Amino acid sequence: MIYKIHRIPVYAPKYIGEKDILIGGGEILAIEESIDTVLPEEGLVEEIDGSGLLAAPGIIDSHLHPTGGGGEGGFSSRTPELQLSDFTTAGVTTLVGTLGTDGNTRDLRNLLAKVKALKEDGLSAYCYTGSYHLPLKGLCPSLSDDIIFIEEVIGAGEIALADHRSGQPDYRQLLELAAACRLGGMLSGKAGTVNIHMGDGKQGLSLLRQIAEQSEVPRTQFSPTHMGRNPQLFREATQWALEGGYVDFTTCTREAFIREGEVRASRALRLLLDAGVALDRISFSSDAGGSLPSFDQEGKICGMEVGDCSSLLDELRRAVRDEGISLEKALCPLTASVAKRLELNRKGVIAGGVDADIMLLDRESLELRTLFARGEIMIRSGEILRRSPFEKQER
Ligand code: ZN
Repeated sequence: MIYKIHRIPVYAPKYIGEKDILIGGGEILAIEESIDTVLPEEGLVEEIDGSGLLAAPGIIDSHLHPTGGGGEGGFSSRTPELQLSDFTTAGVTTLVGTLGTDGNTRDLRNLLAKVKALKEDGLSAYCYTGSYHLPLKGLCPSLSDDIIFIEEVIGAGEIALADHRSGQPDYRQLLELAAACRLGGMLSGKAGTVNIHMGDGKQGLSLLRQIAEQSEVPRTQFSPTHMGRNPQLFREATQWALEGGYVDFTTCTREAFIREGEVRASRALRLLLDAGVALDRISFSSDAGGSLPSFDQEGKICGMEVGDCSSLLDELRRAVRDEGISLEKALCPLTASVAKRLELNRKGVIAGGVDADIMLLDRESLELRTLFARGEIMIRSGEILRRSPFEKQER
């Protein structure tokens, strides 16, 4: 099927005016002021009316737990697997899965199979090798082999730092891991990102700073997330980003965490832009499928919730409405900036020749109406058209 979206304002994410977009074979075939489609067979091109809508790139969620996460409160607190519509109803067309805290009862083979399943379902999906802990347990004999030989593996993570749940790696262990990721990435044409889970601990970014300052591994090898977790970490994040490092903010949170001082992703974007941080250093991810545990003073668990992907568009709307950030800028941490960081060259933008991953949002409410993933319609006018084979139909 070929689709033509007729007369729609396009945020690529930069605003490029009102256009026609022609989609076929999974790609954006053309994007012009006006496209005349003259095809021999009637019904070969489906026209989609763009009135009341705007087009933006599909979201790239670079940190979430598709097979579930959690488990910090015992076996029954392991969170459930995510399904296709958990992503598509949130505008996510590309995702990067990670194991998280639990690399014991969960494993990479299961994560990789889930990622492959989501690809079969029509999304673009990747994963990080390893879990919270070092020494890293990968799939191949070496970490760099995982990145080089497994198509879906684009880096390592999430490696936990400054957290009581971390494996407490030292400078040498983390440096060797980053070097292996760098080598694996270079040899396979991938980013080789080291995805870092930042906890609340007093260690903060000190290990990462030490590597950036004392070794040959550049700070851009790292992608630390949960950077708004507390005011002190946010201050460190600002400095890290001003010096050229990437900073990622988690959109799933709880109001109680915000009251305790967590900096919301949309607020973080406003503060970082005001501080002079380049937009392409900043990204948002959902942490969907992960647990949101609360710990008391003694580190005992006292509450748990599960994150979901819908928080990504919530934060986009907050950035525009509450923080006064233009839509074209507010989209970047969800699209173009993530694609650049992860070296996903066909993602994160609307342009001729790239993958047709496109959200059609209501112009006023910025609610998702229609979603294309690799040129196929996943959501049409709010209706879910595709589900995973065993997904429940209740949504
Ligand atoms: Zn984490």
